Amino acid sequence: EVILSTTPALNLDKLLGGLLPPNLDEQSCQSRYKSYQYRQKSPFTLSPYLTKRLRRYEAYHKKCGPGTRLYKKAMKQLLSGQNVENSQCQYVIWFPCNGLGNRMLTLASTFLYALLTNRVLLAYLGKESENLFCEPFPGSSWVLPSDFPYNQPYNLHLNTPESYVNMLKRGAFAYNSNASSLPAYIYLHLEQFSLRMQNNIFCEEDQKMLRKFNWMLLKSDSYFAPALFLMPSYQEELQKMFPEKESVFHHLGRYLYHPANQVWGRIERYYDAYLAQADEKIGLQIRIFREKPIKFEVMYDQIIRCTNQVNFLPEIAHTEPMRNQSTNSKHKAILITSLYAGYYERIRGIYYDNPTLNGEIVSVYQPSHEEEQQTEAQNHNEKALAEIYLLSFCDKMAISAWSTFGYVAHSFAGIKPWILLRPDWNKEVAEVPCIRSKTVEPCLHSPPLLECRGKDTNAANLVPYVRHCEDVDFGIKLY
Ligand code: GDP
Repeated sequence: EVILSTTPALNLDKLLGGLLPPNLDEQSCQSRYKSYQYRQKSPFTLSPYLTKRLRRYEAYHKKCGPGTRLYKKAMKQLLSGQNVENSQCQYVIWFPCNGLGNRMLTLASTFLYALLTNRVLLAYLGKESENLFCEPFPGSSWVLPSDFPYNQPYNLHLNTPESYVNMLKRGAFAYNSNASSLPAYIYLHLEQFSLRMQNNIFCEEDQKMLRKFNWMLLKSDSYFAPALFLMPSYQEELQKMFPEKESVFHHLGRYLYHPANQVWGRIERYYDAYLAQADEKIGLQIRIFREKPIKFEVMYDQIIRCTNQVNFLPEIAHTEPMRNQSTNSKHKAILITSLYAGYYERIRGIYYDNPTLNGEIVSVYQPSHEEEQQTEAQNHNEKALAEIYLLSFCDKMAISAWSTFGYVAHSFAGIKPWILLRPDWNKEVAEVPCIRSKTVEPCLHSPPLLECRGKDTNAANLVPYVRHCEDVDFGIKLY
């Protein structure tokens, strides 16, 4: 809902320096203009060009979005079974898979893709995440209307006949085909298989071809934004939008994702009750993956080894210091997020059993322990989003290797986290317990095959600002 009120002077902090559109209704989406009060100031400057592009996108979305005359016209074309040339509006429809962190990273990547290729982004959110976020674009909706004909995410996979790569291989069209001779839509499959993304996607000829389709369905589980930076034809535009390369998700994430009031309520209540009084807030995210289980004692020991090496958690003393009530001791809050309660119990116990070296007062909190991932449950996802947000209000952070949940939290915060590394595939214990991320950006675990640029092209060797990740050694991220 947009209310074009006659607001007095704009508060630039509230608009994240101009990232957010002004004059949206504050009551129906409280988080949008309130988050800034809880978070550290962004370490990045916002490019005025990005602001301009976002405002331009918003106008385009409003012109072509659901319910408009142009949307109806485009739908007619879609149902006719045939593509047409020179359409006024082009669309990319995002379909989800995996958990919330993955979804947030890939939807933001799709939005960046929409900006670069001038498409309107619509999202199939599904029942489980329909009410998690506010609408990001003024005066319109990004939710895919329920009567959209191809709205079955399960039909979209590597072998879908309408997938771009499958059609190309089948000879269903050629690079010089006319737009009007093409089918009504194309499916772009960007889900990893064997931790790679398909060849013939991040290649110039293919991108040129893809632009001919007015309707694109896209399904992905990956933060593919770094792969867009490998495309010569997008580099100039990306440079203008993101002169600081490592700010991509930081800006786009804070632009797109505003927790709906119900989730924001959780966030505010928890923050006010437990975190607001702390002088320093320390975030610790512990994620155990099914494909690489780590025993509780081993993980706990890794956290302590990391802490000892880099001074992450407040240091323990071995003798009881004289506590002087009148000196102002620092209050440090440790916020733990994990599906399990064990780490919290153990760490809280340490600070109950032992004094701290500097007389700091330490409190330890964990908002929930869900025990199991339940991506299909709305209430579960609300907690997950609330915890990602609460983590992002911390002053420093340690996250688990490979976890997109952790990536979203530290990128929102604009923090370079400590990463608790995963043991080598044949080992039980991580030799190096943690390493500092060199960038605020998330990692793309599954880099694209780039055979179009020569066999065995390594995506990390093409441009200086795309390199391998600290936690996933074949993955790539922006620096
Ligand atoms: P990733 O699997 O770590 O990359 O992160 P995802 O967010 O994609 O998927 C993990 C899902 O498990 C989350 O979305 C939550 O549903 C759940 N989950 C994992 N860790 C936590 C946690 O610390 N707190 C809560 N509330 N849920 C979690």
